[in-house]
Amino acid sequence: MKNIVLFGSPGVGKGTQAGILKKHYNLVHISTGDLFRHNIKNETELGKLAKSFMNKGNLVPDNVTINMLKAEVNKNANANGFIFDGFPRTESQAISLDLFLKEKGEKINGMVALEVPENLLVERILKRGETSDRPDDQDEKKIRNRFTEYKTKTAILQEYYQNQNKYFGVNGVGSIEEITQRLKEVIDNL
Ligand code: AMP
Repeated sequence: MKNIVLFGSPGVGKGTQAGILKKHYNLVHISTGDLFRHNIKNETELGKLAKSFMNKGNLVPDNVTINMLKAEVNKNANANGFIFDGFPRTESQAISLDLFLKEKGEKINGMVALEVPENLLVERILKRGETSDRPDDQDEKKIRNRFTEYKTKTAILQEYYQNQNKYFGVNGVGSIEEITQRLKEVIDNL
């Protein structure tokens, strides 16, 4: 199995790249943000809970997120591997993921991080908000809060994976094709 964590702050293009890479490597793409949005759309209990956090740009609590992630991995028992997009986002999520995969005799092969300067990102997200129906993309205050959440809870994961020699930074500025190429050069060697 090849298990990749696609990492980076909100708006760096994780979802776009994951969509391309999953086809190229025949991996299952799990986006916790997409899973929450799916639950919100279908008005499930999980969706109602997640919505109250997401609409403010806050992270959804770890226990809820981790349980949802595990269920999704278990649904895909025959997968070649996974691209985790938007997960883990806290150290506790990363530890849970490591333990969960270990129980299955699996591991994270690498965290591949898209690096983009923050000043380019708010504009990108507001632009995405013009065509997506994501309320958290349409309000600068919510976007700023997502960056604060990223800096205070998520950015530390770079160090977490660096300590395991599994962190690979990739320049996330350029055309979609250029960035895919850079990601492939890293992932081919994982
Ligand atoms: P995303 O689509 O990855 O930008 O996620 C959108 C929102 O979903 C985030 O701002 C959080 O509110 C929530 N979310 C997604 N993934 C996670 C996660 N791993 N942990 C906590 N909250 C998450």
